[in-house]
Amino acid sequence: MRLLKDKILKEGIALNREVLKVDSFLNHQIDPILMKKIGEEFSDYFKNYNIDKIVTIETSGVVPAVFVALNLNVPLVFAKKSLPGTLREGFYSEKVFSFTKNKTYDCIVSKKFINSNENILIIDDFLAHGNAALALSKIIEKAEAKVSGIGIVIEKGFQQGRSILEERGYEIFSLARIEKMDKGEIVFFD
Ligand code: 5GP
Repeated sequence: MRLLKDKILKEGIALNREVLKVDSFLNHQIDPILMKKIGEEFSDYFKNYNIDKIVTIETSGVVPAVFVALNLNVPLVFAKKSLPGTLREGFYSEKVFSFTKNKTYDCIVSKKFINSNENILIIDDFLAHGNAALALSKIIEKAEAKVSGIGIVIEKGFQQGRSILEERGYEIFSLARIEKMDKGEIVFFD
């Protein structure tokens, strides 16, 4: 997606070879026009997948996921990273290791929001080592629903997330794939 790549080149900051800071348009301040376009790109790609629901994880996955949900006219469920005091009924839970924060957190979804046989599209802001998407896909499968695709805003293609998820049979569609990066340099695959 040209617009997104240009934005990354203009405003993204590679903190090192592993972590990209995009807090001026995706992770802290939000560019709503770009988010609208991101929603259109994903929904255009997945429009014939009969998606019943979008699933993401708080916090940064929520904004792009809302725009996809709006375009596909389906509900969005976002996994919580801590157990809400109000969540009394059953829930699914998986552990996720975050390499950017160097800690493990929970990924929690109420059982009442994922139904068996639903076609679910996972959306997230980044794909790195695949841990967040993997935890979401395990929850979806525990609920006997189907992971119909994984939509990623920024994929870091030099980390192993894609291969881990593809090994499990999931299709990944990314809007920007970074081949390599370092301070002052970001290179895309195409
Ligand atoms: P994974 O679980 O695939 O290792 O990492 C995905 C999650 O970690 C995303 O939900 C995102 O919040 C965070 N993340 C991974 N890499 C980056 C990065 O380079 N920059 C930022 N800002 N977040 C990242």
